[in-house]
Amino acid sequence: MSSSTSSKGQLWGLVDCNSFYASCEQVFRPDLRGKPVVVLSNNDGCIIARSAEAKKLGIPMGEAFFKVQGVIKAHNVTVFSSNFALYGDLSARVMATMETICPEIEQYSIDEAFIPMPGALAVNAEEIAATLKQTVYRWTGIPVSVGIAPTRTLAKVANHIAKKGTGVCVLRHDAPFQEILSKVPVGDIWGIGRRQALKLACAGIRNAWQFAQADNNWLRKNLTVTGWKTALELRGIPAIGEDELPTPRKSVLSSRSFGEKIHDKSLLAEAVASFTARAAERMRRDGMLARGIAIHIRTSYFDDQHQYVQTGQHSLQMGTNDTCFLQHEAAHIFDDIYKSGFAYAKAGVMLYDLIPVGQQQCSLLPAPEADPKRMDLMATLDKINDKHGRGSLKFGAEGLTGQVWKIKQNNLSPRFTTEWDELAPAYCK
Ligand SMILES: [Mg+2]
Repeated sequence: MSSSTSSKGQLWGLVDCNSFYASCEQVFRPDLRGKPVVVLSNNDGCIIARSAEAKKLGIPMGEAFFKVQGVIKAHNVTVFSSNFALYGDLSARVMATMETICPEIEQYSIDEAFIPMPGALAVNAEEIAATLKQTVYRWTGIPVSVGIAPTRTLAKVANHIAKKGTGVCVLRHDAPFQEILSKVPVGDIWGIGRRQALKLACAGIRNAWQFAQADNNWLRKNLTVTGWKTALELRGIPAIGEDELPTPRKSVLSSRSFGEKIHDKSLLAEAVASFTARAAERMRRDGMLARGIAIHIRTSYFDDQHQYVQTGQHSLQMGTNDTCFLQHEAAHIFDDIYKSGFAYAKAGVMLYDLIPVGQQQCSLLPAPEADPKRMDLMATLDKINDKHGRGSLKFGAEGLTGQVWKIKQNNLSPRFTTEWDELAPAYCK
């Protein structure tokens, strides 16, 4: 296949807010633009966001606050406690702004979204990237970087390059990938964890180019199917589906545009409950707990007359990944933000302020994760759904109806790796 043919194919965009939490604080404190700013985790424990200027001072991500107090004082760094209500709301505004330009965005985390760019959009990738960057900044005050490439994993690489340069980077199918990927350490590849990076280093695989060239059988045996799919993506073959995305460090999101508009409160509540279940399942799969939940509902941006957009969030006293508990919280928030008389087009659930299981701080309150019966129940639920397909077993709140909100899948990519009929084609020169 010649590169001129393949360059007409689909591209993926990744829009990522720069130093998101720090940028949110700067929106309301314009005097702090261009100055060092850091944001602290719950209880002001450690650094979870740094403005570019704070990064330059060498303040490490995740460092305990007390350890960097010297630098902070010496350089007059402004310190904020985390304000997830603000970040959740600005996140919704950033996403809404992007949707006016690319309606099919897939929000991936609190500050990132993928944009599927089929042929027509891909042709104008540079122009779209520049428009996204300018418009989001103008409308929300949040600076973003845009990376565009043939797969999600390569879009992540493009986004890193964008961040270091002009804020925009487009890598088409004929980009010099060997040169680019040779400079990316394996540990920086999207979805490759520290343990896997170590395993790769032992096998002499140190950069993304070497990883992409590794033997398929070796990859599947040593890094499971997920690692092999990542290698395919680095070769320019889309292989990771929307349900298989690695868990972002900051937040887990489950959202969808509905096939048909929803006028009915109970149907919308069912959608929210189902998205909550999906997000909780992902947290359990990845061994994470959430300490915050946000619900977002909105009408279509193309309906001029009756628009309604609202986000509500709630901080949890203890981290949890218990579906039942989270659905209960979600229902409360939903009741608060729901307004009747609108035709809803999209809803989403975001779990944020994440910590790994086992890092829960001591508390007098019983932690939902600590109840062995509940943990068994969730493990059994996941096992059954793994075996018989998602949704085989679910909570009553998710509904038993036709689920109109499930229908729209216009941009579903083929199941390259699990269905014989949808295998990715390989071409020999
Ligand atoms: Mg970011």
